[in-house]
Amino acid sequence: MTAIRFILVGVVNTLVGLGTIYAAMYFFSFGIKSANLVGYLVGIIVSFTLNKKWTFKNRDGVGTSLVRFLVVTGVAYVANLETVILSVSYLNISPYLAQFLGVFPYTIIGYLGCKFFAFPNKKVSASRLISAVTTIKKRPTQLLNLAIVIPCYNEEEVLTETNSRLLELMKSMKTTGLISENSGVYYVDDGSRDRTWELISNFHSENPFVHGVKLSRNRGHQNALLAGLFSAEGDAIVSIDADLQDDIKVIIDMVCRYNDGYDIIYGVRSSRKSDTFFKRMTAQLYYKVLKLMGVDLVYNHADYRLMSRRVIDCLNKFKEVNLFLRGIIPQLGFPATTVFYERNERFAGESKYPLGKMLALATDGITSFSVVPLRMITWLGLFVSIASVVVIVWILLDKFVMHTVVPGWTSTVLPIYFLGGVQLLSVGILGEYLSKIYMETKQRPLYFIEEEI
Ligand code: UDP
Ligand code: MG
Repeated sequence: MTAIRFILVGVVNTLVGLGTIYAAMYFFSFGIKSANLVGYLVGIIVSFTLNKKWTFKNRDGVGTSLVRFLVVTGVAYVANLETVILSVSYLNISPYLAQFLGVFPYTIIGYLGCKFFAFPNKKVSASRLISAVTTIKKRPTQLLNLAIVIPCYNEEEVLTETNSRLLELMKSMKTTGLISENSGVYYVDDGSRDRTWELISNFHSENPFVHGVKLSRNRGHQNALLAGLFSAEGDAIVSIDADLQDDIKVIIDMVCRYNDGYDIIYGVRSSRKSDTFFKRMTAQLYYKVLKLMGVDLVYNHADYRLMSRRVIDCLNKFKEVNLFLRGIIPQLGFPATTVFYERNERFAGESKYPLGKMLALATDGITSFSVVPLRMITWLGLFVSIASVVVIVWILLDKFVMHTVVPGWTSTVLPIYFLGGVQLLSVGILGEYLSKIYMETKQRPLYFIEEEI
């Protein structure tokens, strides 16, 4: 729809521009150069205004939008010129045909640039959703039964320290009357191959408020987390990693915000200083890509958050296998807010999230939420079809009008490669979704609990 409007605006703006040039030359006796300049200026103003207000319905300030729009127009114009020059000099076609060819890169670059850069369509973002809630009801002063859920995979090096720090924190929260006496810690052993479960069992025998859930094999962080969330008892549950990277003192802030009446409290990292350059860059790219695909995440928030019992109950209603928590939770609604903290280095051991797992989480994030890749195939298909029509017109003209050489080997083989590539890509993306459908139809349980204490 926006594409059609964009093209219509292009037509209007060309007509207005040409009209202005004509009027300037014949009614006001402008020279050809100054008439062209005036025509371009009027055209740009018309196109900017219509595209901003009508095509993309953008509400940013006029100043920034105009600068961005001029950048986009400039780039598109250069692409147009290059296409015209290159096709005249290498393809030996007439300047008129070259002008016609030049319209395509101009329109495509202009459209994409306007859509994503000059006039980005601001949907209500996750962070706006959070601040949009104004009416919250303070909870009655009744002691909160809090549960802390910790997924663990081969964490023997950190677990003892984690446990003692968490218990200390819980003790102080219990004595200050912030949480109830029966509040507890729930470890989920995600099929570890080291002494993790042994340690958890020891913790349990030392302190009855420490509980453990052992999964029958490694099911990955998200599933381990879900296992914990659905087996823990409590009015509110905090989920946190085992490695003490997240500042546990923030749990106190979370509980205070819960008492204020919030249902979801996101722990958000105030900076990414402790990350490697690579992780920082990839993380940023990841948020950007997901946003482009229409998946809105809370920026710099991982899985450190507090959720109330009713949020957990809602989560339990999702029956899909590819449950991507960071994407789903902002969409649940309920009063939500954020608390900030500095993220530290891992206390001990190494990351259990190697590049492979990270990429898997990233693709899951996109394919379990967004149909944009599917739509991109349609656009690509449309573009390729239009491009081939242009090429066909050119070949026919070449053969019947200009009587130049017979189309050669290149023009036969290139499209084959090109179309082959496009088709493979498209089939690949389709396959990605098919595999998701396949998994969902099986409705396999997410995990099995082997032992519970
Ligand atoms: N984890 C898990 N199962 C896995 C991988 C990781 O339960 O298959 C847990 C891990 O023990 C930790 C949390 O998920 O408590 C986050 O992992 P990690 O700290 O290694 O990730 P990073 O902070 O490096 O992204
Ligand atoms: Mg970590």
